[in-house]
Amino acid sequence: MTVVTRFAPSPTGLLHVGNLRTAILNWLFAKAKGGRFLLRLDDTDAARSEERFVEAIRRDLAWLGLVPDGEERQSARLDAYEARFDALVTAGRLYPCYETPQELDLRRKILLGRGLPPIYDRAALALTAAERAALEAEGRRPHWRFRLDHDAAIEWDDAIRGHQRFDPAAISDPVVRRADGSWLYLLPSVIDDIDMNVTHVVRGEDHVSNTAAQVQMFAALGASPPTFAHAALLTGSEGKLSKRLGSLGVEHFREEGIEPQALIALLARIGTSDPVEPIVDPLTLAGAFDFARFGRAPARFDEAELTAVNARIVHQLGHAAVADRLPSGMGAEAWEAVRPNLSHVAEAKDWWQVIEGPIDPPAIDDADRVYLADAARAATDIDWTADPWHALTGALKDATGRKGKALFLPLRLALTGQAHGPDMATLLPLIGRDRALARLQAAGG
Ligand code: GLU
Repeated sequence: MTVVTRFAPSPTGLLHVGNLRTAILNWLFAKAKGGRFLLRLDDTDAARSEERFVEAIRRDLAWLGLVPDGEERQSARLDAYEARFDALVTAGRLYPCYETPQELDLRRKILLGRGLPPIYDRAALALTAAERAALEAEGRRPHWRFRLDHDAAIEWDDAIRGHQRFDPAAISDPVVRRADGSWLYLLPSVIDDIDMNVTHVVRGEDHVSNTAAQVQMFAALGASPPTFAHAALLTGSEGKLSKRLGSLGVEHFREEGIEPQALIALLARIGTSDPVEPIVDPLTLAGAFDFARFGRAPARFDEAELTAVNARIVHQLGHAAVADRLPSGMGAEAWEAVRPNLSHVAEAKDWWQVIEGPIDPPAIDDADRVYLADAARAATDIDWTADPWHALTGALKDATGRKGKALFLPLRLALTGQAHGPDMATLLPLIGRDRALARLQAAGG
């Protein structure tokens, strides 16, 4: 059996971090099993679906490096839904309802007022053919509900939540089709999952009650349901569901200089019993992916943790992975020299400026000025082809008796204009003899 997962966003807005996590979990599981990962655009709501969001979803997945093995969209599959619709109506599993939203709302309020759960009373099921004809003659068009089978409990073994059991009588028969003929997501999703041989439905736990109804839809369509895995939702670092999470998307993370690998490394592990680790290759994460590691408690998404993971990812990225974001001329040696000092790739340009110059002249006290004038002279005598930093500091140590900070810090200041930075032994060859001499002379003069 080939594992098939799908990420099924509705293109009614931009993906937020919760959606991105769902995409990542689906991708990881498919990769873990050598399976297929599909992008399914749930665009049955024509009024709210927009092409620019379809494009944004594709772009976001591309940025993350999650390449779908296929793309489907519900608006292209209306014929498949129509065929199943007719069959389910014939089988008595879909029934027409004529209540207006106001009528339904009133009934709900009455039930709630009596302290009863606001479950749809199935009044429409009791309508006679004549009553339906009369309503239609008034100009009413039906919407359609799926008749849940009340005879047995709905049960499934959730890959994350364990055994689930629902009383179908405690759930309203879900509306699956609107009066204008358009579809709600519930039934098309089941038809797609059947037709696309989806084996695992991985999504947020906000879908658990949808799953209860969908388990019966699979059965009504003569199919066995896929495995479901409902992940606990994300919460903000403050431990509660925050509005902010809903607004954090790829655009934000890009602007913050977050690498896609950092986002994947974090989102793959939060909410699991595994530690968050700065793993650059998502396939490595896939190798260790297991729903059994996921807990029921909300997964805490902390942007500070993301920033920390990001830095540790940046420290591992090869030149080829970042070359198009580096200043022109900044080669692999320079990248590797400055990489350990970066939190974000964009900061590389600051160190490139340090290497290439000009640098801001540092403040140097009188004693160090004399020392740096010595250093400028010593620098003319050393071999610049091998390891100029150790040659220079070795010579100065012998000549001046300086050691430790007194030996190194004035040199660093004079050569880079900074008190901290990358290892001088790797930086100095990149600065090169001519610039180094000029900087030492300027600081010693
Ligand atoms: N379009 C639905 C959503 O975005 C898909 C849910 C599912 O994965 O079945 O919530």
